[in-house]
Amino acid sequence: MRASSVDHIILETLEHNHDHLTAQQIYERICERLPAVNQSTVYRALERMATAGKVSISDMGLGAAVYEMIGGERHHHLVCQNCGQTLNISDEIVSNFFHQLEAENHFQMVTNHLVLFGYCETCQKGKATQKTKEST
Ligand SMILES: [Zn+2]
Ligand SMILES: [Zn+2]
Repeated sequence: MRASSVDHIILETLEHNHDHLTAQQIYERICERLPAVNQSTVYRALERMATAGKVSISDMGLGAAVYEMIGGERHHHLVCQNCGQTLNISDEIVSNFFHQLEAENHFQMVTNHLVLFGYCETCQKGKATQKTKEST
């Protein structure tokens, strides 16, 4: 199995699903098309592509890193820690923020998929009905 064909199928899988997938989920999907592929080949290919900037790798609070294809518009997420809902945020705000940080700290950002955690509107309402010790 040539590495490049595994890369190609991984990218197709990510493109087709248009979602964040863990390495395990990617592997399972690839197995449907390439039953002979082994897990470490897929994992290594993902790492290589993340380093090359073809896929993003993020912690979205799922217990495992998730991968997503980088193509077209950059985007970022707000993730609800309670229900797991993800909201997309545009790159405009984030890139302004990054430019500011880069200028102030003489730092070059590599992060291309920012994930921020919190509570969504629905879960905030749910929390409000529970008794809270701290005053808000
Ligand atoms: Zn994403
Ligand atoms: Zn929520």
